[in-house]
Amino acid sequence: MTHFICITCGTQFREGDRPPPTCPICDDDRQFVPRSGQEWTEMAILGQTHAVVWNEEAEGIHSLQISPHFGIGQRAFLIEGPDGNILWDCLSLVDEASKARIAAMGGLNAIAISHPHFYASMAEWSMAFGEVPIHVHADDDQWVQRTIAALRPWTGETLQIGRATMIRCGGHFDGSSVLHCPWLDGGRGALFVGDTMQVTMDRKFVSFMRSYPNLVPLNASIVKAISETVRPYRFQTIHGAFPGRTIERDGNRVVERSAERYVKAITG
Ligand SMILES: [Zn+2]
Ligand SMILES: [Zn+2]
Repeated sequence: MTHFICITCGTQFREGDRPPPTCPICDDDRQFVPRSGQEWTEMAILGQTHAVVWNEEAEGIHSLQISPHFGIGQRAFLIEGPDGNILWDCLSLVDEASKARIAAMGGLNAIAISHPHFYASMAEWSMAFGEVPIHVHADDDQWVQRTIAALRPWTGETLQIGRATMIRCGGHFDGSSVLHCPWLDGGRGALFVGDTMQVTMDRKFVSFMRSYPNLVPLNASIVKAISETVRPYRFQTIHGAFPGRTIERDGNRVVERSAERYVKAITG
């Protein structure tokens, strides 16, 4: 029996003696199955060919990604906080080096995930650190492929994790969330957005889509609502889902002007 991992999106599934017939996350209209068809792997095999690479993004902010490229190539973040370490978003691989490194940093206090594309191997990450609570929005319940007792689906609009706040924005998924950490960036605040907002290639804007690979936009009222939802929180930096996608300054203003530009583009 194995917990199979979808090679296309990186999601790990409940135990089975053969791979699931399909991956619901890849079959959804927000993702895709490659032309070559669906393929599967498992943690032990992935660990032989791939590793988790760490990058120091800023004081107290470490990004983690799988190398070479795997799944959709996202990064996760190990965030050091006054109430312990938070893993924001997740990867398909848990490697021994990362386990040792995080243990040496005091272990993990919480796992918080923006949306189903980054559920990855969240159960394994939790179990590696003693059943760390995993915070995912309950509105995305149907997309969870491997349930464990440490899973803590949350409801409503915000969730406090120590001094950090998980904020539901919706849009990309009903439960799509961001994480606000007011102590980071010298107390000016940092926002971790997954692809609830996607930091654009020029790192001057964020964008908002139902589907990024299939190019399905969101409507004006949802984009305005996302911008308004994060307005009460102060943040200087914005940390996006993919390597290098970081906005270094003026985060609040960037979100405001990005929403204005987007709404103007789709309403004419
Ligand atoms: Zn998949
Ligand atoms: Zn996504």
